[in-house]
Amino acid sequence: MEPLTEQELRTAFVNCTKGEAKRLSVPRDLAERPWDDLDLLGWRDPQAPGRAYLATRLDGRPVALVLRCTNAASWQLRRNMCSICMTAHTGGVSLMVAPKAGRAGQQGNSVGAYLCSDLACSLYVRGKKDAGPGARLHESLTLEETIQRTVANLAAFLAKVTA
Ligand SMILES: [Zn+2]
Repeated sequence: MEPLTEQELRTAFVNCTKGEAKRLSVPRDLAERPWDDLDLLGWRDPQAPGRAYLATRLDGRPVALVLRCTNAASWQLRRNMCSICMTAHTGGVSLMVAPKAGRAGQQGNSVGAYLCSDLACSLYVRGKKDAGPGARLHESLTLEETIQRTVANLAAFLAKVTA
């Protein structure tokens, strides 16, 4: 995707207050990220271990989400599959919960999804990061089709959060 700047990221958050979006931790090395290989940029908050963020472009427009990660103990030993990139990890998938955008979120509604704990979905899909034996299903899809599916899964998750 097209690179995102810090300014674009901070104004792209749909499910937190403007104040929160201004203060939250944004990666300092944005310029060095492998944007050509990214369908989404995800990062954990170094100041708050239970928080993660995810950003992408939907039809070119930046969209970003605040996520809460569940406690490690509940998922650590089970093999789970990421619902966005369909990579199976043992201990590398977290249940992440996104408060819904707008009024629904203020009322405490949220959407949960199992996602790669390191949010490196794009790199697993492209074989640039290895999740271990058996992590990727043997599929008849081409890389391009797998990327399209990943983008579609991501768009569906974003649609649920903003619905
Ligand atoms: Zn993933």
